[in-house]
Amino acid sequence: MSLHEWAVADAIVSSLVNFCSSRGASRILKVEIVYGEAMEYNLEVLRDAVEYLSKGTPLEGAEIVFKEEKSIFRCNACGAKWDIAEAERLINRALKVEEEGEGFESPLHFIPELASSLMRCPKCGSPDVEMVEGDSVRVSKVVMG
Ligand SMILES: [Zn+2]
Repeated sequence: MSLHEWAVADAIVSSLVNFCSSRGASRILKVEIVYGEAMEYNLEVLRDAVEYLSKGTPLEGAEIVFKEEKSIFRCNACGAKWDIAEAERLINRALKVEEEGEGFESPLHFIPELASSLMRCPKCGSPDVEMVEGDSVRVSKVVMG
């Protein structure tokens, strides 16, 4: 069991319950949740956690749809942008990870926040880089009954 997914599920459920009561709606029929690919959530765990925490709330029984969003990195110095595959190459290079090494995964999967501190821009070499898209999980659509 991953605590990370449960923490995310808890945040999602409580924000939806608050949203629902602020609108005076009695129940939520459908929810769409967008998450960045860099987050690497276990969707089965996340779905189970959301369903479990929804019990007894207006969210109980709602249809839950997950959508993955591309993660994009940007250099603040020159404006270059790159995707997660390039980011992993840059990080592996920074950490001197052996390409053929087994049993080691890029830390990007576990700590997306760490990514920007390990990377330098592939174009100009600036360390001033950040993840500008796909760095979070958010509710993108709510259908209330
Ligand atoms: Zn740059």
